[in-house]
Amino acid sequence: MPKVKIKINDVEYEVEQGLSVLDAAESVGIEIPHFCAHKYLKPAGLCRMCLVEIKGARKLQTSCTTPVKEGMEVYTESDAVVKARKEILELHLANHPLDCPECDQAGDCLLQKYYDEYGLYERRFDIERTHFEKDVILSDNLILDRERCILCQRCVRFSEEILGEKLLAVFERGSRSYIATYNDEKISTLYSGNFAEICPVGAITDRRFRFKIRNWFLIKKESICPLCERGCNIYVETPKDRPYLKNYERLQRISSRDNPEINKSFICDRGRYELFSLEENRIYKGISEMEEVGWQKIKKILKEHLFTIETVILSSWMTNEEIDLALSLFKDYLNLKNIYFWGNPAGDEDEILIKKDKNPNSYYLEHKKVKRLNSKSRIDFKGSTLIFGDFFRENEFVLKKIEDESFVILISPYIPSFPEKINLLIPSANFFEKEGYYTNFEGRIQEVERIFENDKVKTEFEILEMIESILRKK
Ligand code: SF4
Ligand code: SF4
Repeated sequence: MPKVKIKINDVEYEVEQGLSVLDAAESVGIEIPHFCAHKYLKPAGLCRMCLVEIKGARKLQTSCTTPVKEGMEVYTESDAVVKARKEILELHLANHPLDCPECDQAGDCLLQKYYDEYGLYERRFDIERTHFEKDVILSDNLILDRERCILCQRCVRFSEEILGEKLLAVFERGSRSYIATYNDEKISTLYSGNFAEICPVGAITDRRFRFKIRNWFLIKKESICPLCERGCNIYVETPKDRPYLKNYERLQRISSRDNPEINKSFICDRGRYELFSLEENRIYKGISEMEEVGWQKIKKILKEHLFTIETVILSSWMTNEEIDLALSLFKDYLNLKNIYFWGNPAGDEDEILIKKDKNPNSYYLEHKKVKRLNSKSRIDFKGSTLIFGDFFRENEFVLKKIEDESFVILISPYIPSFPEKINLLIPSANFFEKEGYYTNFEGRIQEVERIFENDKVKTEFEILEMIESILRKK
């Protein structure tokens, strides 16, 4: 990409040609306050908060709509800019209800942030604030507080530019303007949670997160969404470890993490809301013949049955490293021929993010030449079988195909759907309790951080190491 030389606050920088002044400044680490501008939306120049001084220009310019030019000299913090910023903030806050103490966005709100940085004025308006509806239900997941809205139109542009649908618009004019859906219909999209995330203030908030916990008590950990093969980048938000927060659930919110190559800064509602079910139906104890068993007993049973295994069914929720170790043990060392993986049934797909293949690591398994099973596979399993379970627990098909006299070992974080078919259940870590790498549908390898510690269970990798130690001591 060709570069141009510009000066920002008297310091020379080389920036990409074609960028707006706002994006160019950001690319060299200089933040220009803004509400309406968004990395993945077209510039609108609506909020005026990003005004900057450009040498030679008669008036201050909106940095989001002004492209950089060779030799341009920009001032982002001059007296004129700071004065304008303060006045614009005063206008944005003229009718604002100032209900930060009960607003879910508090601590993460651009109005609050910029008021602290540039506002700090005495209110000069001596008029009654304009009142609007404060609890408009936009969808099952969203609520709109029109009094908090600053009319930046990010929500309108997100729906038109990213979703390709006109779901919202600005109605009326001047100080009576407000955001609404057409005919007051509820928003219906698989991407609804992004409206709350893209709103820079607390106007659109997430009903599922409402009044749950304050933003400043949350820690964001990096992960990916495993619910389809795209592997959208996400933050898993969990409460800070504080004595009086002891009773909070460890998983509080899933939000998007910017990755221009994979999901930009958006995720679908499945990733945002359905990942909570990964925390349900957990099992923390081993079970053999309907009795609870500890790790010593599990090892003993494994020793008795490992060498009778003829079929191994891997899971597409295993990491690259777990798959590699499993293949080195069962394919290379034991020379087993019947190694498959269970592919969760294909689902819907769209042109935005959602992929048909609902498996997080099927690309890697297929790349390693592991055959995919589905409900049409014509296979009958013989001999003892080792199954790596996954979140969907839809292994009914697999279990039905296994001969009744076979010894079945299931390694799974979840209570099995058909416990009567399992001879040994080994409890394993769920997706949030392990770390490693996954490969998405384009072959991009992505790292997953361990979000939660859980010493009651072992990761599939640790269980495979246990199996390895048994095999090699034979
Ligand atoms: S609801 Fe939020 S995103 Fe939409 S216009 Fe108002 S402030 Fe902007
Ligand atoms: S598009 Fe796929 S990977 Fe992305 S959030 Fe949705 S289900 Fe998860």
